[in-house]
Amino acid sequence: MKNGAINRCREISENPYRYTKDWKEKTCKKVISCFGMHIPEEIVHASGITPVIAWRSDEPVTIGHSHVATFNCGLTRSFIDDLVKDKLSFLDGIAINRICLQTQGMPFILEQNPKAPYLEYLSLPALYQSASIKDYLIEEMKRFKEGLEKFSGKKITTDDLNNSIIIYNKNRKLLKKIYEIRRKNPKILKAKEMMYIVHSSMVMDKEDNNELLNHVIDELENRDLVTTSENPIRVITYGGLCQTVNTRILDLIEELNMVIVDDDIFVGSKYFAKPVKITDNPIEALGDEYLKNTPPCPTKGDYKTDWTDFLIDMARKNNAKGIISLLIKYCPPHMCYYPDIKNKLSEKGIPELLIEVEHEVISFEQIKTRLQTFAEIIQGV
Ligand code: SF4
Repeated sequence: MKNGAINRCREISENPYRYTKDWKEKTCKKVISCFGMHIPEEIVHASGITPVIAWRSDEPVTIGHSHVATFNCGLTRSFIDDLVKDKLSFLDGIAINRICLQTQGMPFILEQNPKAPYLEYLSLPALYQSASIKDYLIEEMKRFKEGLEKFSGKKITTDDLNNSIIIYNKNRKLLKKIYEIRRKNPKILKAKEMMYIVHSSMVMDKEDNNELLNHVIDELENRDLVTTSENPIRVITYGGLCQTVNTRILDLIEELNMVIVDDDIFVGSKYFAKPVKITDNPIEALGDEYLKNTPPCPTKGDYKTDWTDFLIDMARKNNAKGIISLLIKYCPPHMCYYPDIKNKLSEKGIPELLIEVEHEVISFEQIKTRLQTFAEIIQGV
């Protein structure tokens, strides 16, 4: 079927609840939701449990607001809302990486509500460099592994971990290939389709997803262009931490004759950027990847790395005329870095536009006007 694989990615991204429930029913496997970026999913996978990256629902937050502050980011609020509405009772566990103040507050909320059988709070280091940080990280990963062994009843061997790493690396390679196809021909995929594709990988069993991504690549090889504009303006996006970006915003960018050639967003290239080495010490190999500062992440401080330089480099390599900052509303890590990014881009003469991404109420008309002005400005650059 034409676009069958890309449509399947969309279906899964739009209804991850259904995929996950069907997967559990079909395989009788346990499922653990991984909340917050950087959780080493391979360790969960090696225990025989399926990890899924936590998602936000497409519903506005209602009763969740009696448990979580309205000034939390959309993912945090939506996840808690889903939890108290009993929409996540099919999960066997939740693992949270305390990457920011909001995720640090989640254990207190989770402890006061009906609990999943497995709850783990990881405190992976927020700094990259130094021997003591690495020692601490490895100890934390080992603790994670031991907890999963206890919960799953399965001893995780070196081979188990390396097998999972191989499957995950294959997934990274396939996603990278799809990104390369888009870089060469950005008119072949809508930005929202790219997000559906990456999101499907976050939700699906990785082996199933690898198969699906191979079909996506086949489809792309024979696909007609989806952007018909002769000369769309090339832009890159960055930000979008921890969660999907409202697809209407991505559509608006394209409707205004811009095309996203590359990105540095979580449900995007950030997710698959770090392949892990196969060694006889896979926990250390996972730790080494965690400690690499490319791509930079504002949840991990490193005074030697400049996020703006990384973005400038990405824009130049892709011949992009501007950078769109997708700032998740109430996301302190990105908010802390944003003023410096804005100033430096302005000093370098690189046009940048800030779009605040809210979970529910978005004034699309206002966003459209701002995008339109931005497109007009950068067209002449
Ligand atoms: S989006 Fe920002 S505030 Fe929300 S969980 Fe991620 S890092 Fe924390």
